[in-house]
Amino acid sequence: MLNNQGRPTAAGAATAAAHPTFTGNQALQIEEALLFEIGRADCTGVDLDEPAAFTPRLGGLERKGPIGLVGLSEPETMRHFVRLSQKNYGIDTGLFPLGSCTMKHNPRLNEKMARLPGFSDIHPLQPQSTVQGALELIDQLAHWLMVLTGTSAVAMSPKAGAHGELAGMMAIKAAIDAKGEGASRKVVLVPESAHGTNPATAALIGFIVKPVPARADGTVHVDDVKALLGPDVAAIMLTNPNTCGIFEPQIVEIARAMHEAGAYFYCDGANFNAIVGKARPGDLGIDAMHINLHKTFSTPHGGGGPGAGPVVLSDRLARFAPLPFIRRDGSHFALVETADQAGNVQAFGRVTAFHGQMGMYVRALSYMMSHGSDGMKQASEDAVLNANYIRAGLEDLMSLPFPDHPSMHEALFDDTWLKDTGISTLDFAKAMIDEGYHPMTMYFPLVVHGAMLIEPTESESRASLDLFIMTLRDLAMRAKRGETERFSAAPFHAPRRRLDETRAARNPILRWTPPQPIQQAAE
Ligand SMILES: *Cc1c(COP(=O)(O)O)cnc(C)c1O
Repeated sequence: MLNNQGRPTAAGAATAAAHPTFTGNQALQIEEALLFEIGRADCTGVDLDEPAAFTPRLGGLERKGPIGLVGLSEPETMRHFVRLSQKNYGIDTGLFPLGSCTMKHNPRLNEKMARLPGFSDIHPLQPQSTVQGALELIDQLAHWLMVLTGTSAVAMSPKAGAHGELAGMMAIKAAIDAKGEGASRKVVLVPESAHGTNPATAALIGFIVKPVPARADGTVHVDDVKALLGPDVAAIMLTNPNTCGIFEPQIVEIARAMHEAGAYFYCDGANFNAIVGKARPGDLGIDAMHINLHKTFSTPHGGGGPGAGPVVLSDRLARFAPLPFIRRDGSHFALVETADQAGNVQAFGRVTAFHGQMGMYVRALSYMMSHGSDGMKQASEDAVLNANYIRAGLEDLMSLPFPDHPSMHEALFDDTWLKDTGISTLDFAKAMIDEGYHPMTMYFPLVVHGAMLIEPTESESRASLDLFIMTLRDLAMRAKRGETERFSAAPFHAPRRRLDETRAARNPILRWTPPQPIQQAAE
């Protein structure tokens, strides 16, 4: 039975569960055991001669028995790792609507550039004279990040958004200490809608976190901030556009209030993809903002490798930026690594061993230069358009917690529309897996009950958005019609059904216990 997209219907697919296979495989969805379960300790994929007799020089510390590692033939090894790789769902597999995460397409040009030997084969300890091109690339990327954000400094080395938060907040702490206010300014204001990394960052470096209540319309009001301001407040950590997908209408007033109170404005820049080329955070009054290169500038997590979280800084914080940083002298680039070299700079220290994620810098600059300023602006506009297209396609069936605000690059629904169905946000997300979609972000932001945060990004075509909308509409109508089991027992078609996620988190089993013979061999 085929529906009008040529896909098998649920009735046809449900029979799969009723016909278990001998292998446990479901067609090309192949069960994969652990390497240790399929390999043998007495076998290797290569033929090595027995080593000639030699006298160990390890003073009795040498291993007494075999190492206990398992071996496989080369084809077995290939199959194992290729099958594992096929279990990954990435942006190259399908639409990845994870809100707040900006899972956008990673152009292959980025990968080609990152693999150029001059970028991929260099070593952080190489003499600087031999890596001038790489240093120049970091300097250029830094330049464009400052241009796009309207700021005057950037610390490039943090390796993720949360790491950038840490670096930015440490710069704020250093600035407060330099004014002799370290003992009194201990409080950091964090809106209730914030990402968990914001309060975690503030608490990690010794600040006391005070929540700013969220207004009923999903925004932060300057009066609520002012009510909490005092000589004890060091900073606010505010996300813009916020995690409800709304551009904070009073952001400029909030920045002014912070500065008048002698405090700083940390902006969580994870949602920068909504405003690149449209608004410069520096003009809005921010003092520090991390940029998730792996969100805004492609190469999403799970689709392109590691991340990078450079943090841009205002004039007020520039001199506290961490080491190392790049200094340009004519056509020569130097990586300033020590306080001595930095001269009068009051760097607070350093947050990474070396200069940061070189591969990510190459990818981000490749993305910027191939798009150009007009292309990046259009990407933001299309990201916002796509999110609003999804919102418009679903809002008659699914409930919007903040219908009065237009959405930026993500559409936020709550679970009011599921009331009395017996179906939860989690159940709905599991049913999406059966349809071949990675679920959206669930239960975040916390200020919205049963939140479903959908961020399609600009990568998706109209046809892709239409199919996604039709799929969610189909599920939503089934939910409203009371087809409860389809949701409460989903996923039906995934290799594993419902996992006990709570137990897995509370009681993780992180060691594989070998069967007896291998264990003895390893001792
Ligand atoms: C992703 C994200 C972060 C953290 O960034 P990482 O790069 O994952 O460390 C912080 N805040 C918000 C709003 C985010 O979406």
